[in-house]
Amino acid sequence: MIGRILEEIDTMDMKDFPTSILPLLEDLLSDIKKGEVNAERFKRLFQTGLAKYIVTYVSDEPKQLNWSREPTKCNGDYRGYFPGHGVTKPKAGTCQDCQQMNVFLQSPTETVWRFPAAEARRKHLINKLSDKHECFTTIEKPRTPFSLVVTKHKRSMDEKHRKWKARVSEVKGHLQSLEGRHRILDNVLHERYADIMAVRVKNLRGEAGQAVEGSNDRSDHTQAGPSQVAGQKRKAAVVDLTDD
Ligand SMILES: [Zn+2]
Repeated sequence: MIGRILEEIDTMDMKDFPTSILPLLEDLLSDIKKGEVNAERFKRLFQTGLAKYIVTYVSDEPKQLNWSREPTKCNGDYRGYFPGHGVTKPKAGTCQDCQQMNVFLQSPTETVWRFPAAEARRKHLINKLSDKHECFTTIEKPRTPFSLVVTKHKRSMDEKHRKWKARVSEVKGHLQSLEGRHRILDNVLHERYADIMAVRVKNLRGEAGQAVEGSNDRSDHTQAGPSQVAGQKRKAAVVDLTDD
């Protein structure tokens, strides 16, 4: 029966964990007799089950790896400035202004860039920036030509981090209320008690059966959120506790 619950946890949508698996664990905690607290099968269910829930649902803390952004493209639509050609476009290609801005955009460390230029050139650059560049622009007017100021922001990372913290609090809340009703939880979780109650994702990867190293390496600043593949999600089936 315990193996089946763990299988269930492996394939379920972890959003359903608090309503489908936590009540099962509660029932078990109520039923476990004193002598059984250290039984391996209970430990395995609680340690591994909760570790899987935490690792999958909470996932690693999202981190801004660096400030680099995608370059802009201005092929064929440029009406601004090409050195030596005035306002005439010699050929399709990324213009000099965009090239300069791209150096800034692709820099992993630069966050603010100032570009003094006439309005048409500033507008061209502003038009090339979209949401994916995660920049805001202002115009500085102490002297002419005015300067376009492009500033990289990390609002989407901040939002991912806010959601991650909310998931940590949510899970901690579930665990604390479970422990509040069943004092034996610390005996059952035993050596995993501290990591599970503190929702330490990294320390629980091994217990959850996931790679401990490098699982977050490929994830650039787009990474965050429950790490399940959408196609694998399904509703948790009811697990029959009476057949064990
Ligand atoms: Zn351009």
